[in-house]
Amino acid sequence: MCPLKDWGCPAAQRQPSWRLLSSHSTSAGEVEYCRCTCDALVVLCEGEVAAFTPR
Ligand SMILES: [Zn+2]
Repeated sequence: MCPLKDWGCPAAQRQPSWRLLSSHSTSAGEVEYCRCTCDALVVLCEGEVAAFTPR
């Protein structure tokens, strides 16, 4: 189950399908920007969802 469902992702994927856009090492840790199949922007910090921006 897509963990983003709790964040309001409308895709409700059985298997999350994110495309990694970019990743950066910051003082807060590894930050990754991904694009969900629903076109939402997902920001991961240390592997945890830090932000979810619906299209
Ligand atoms: Zn989504």
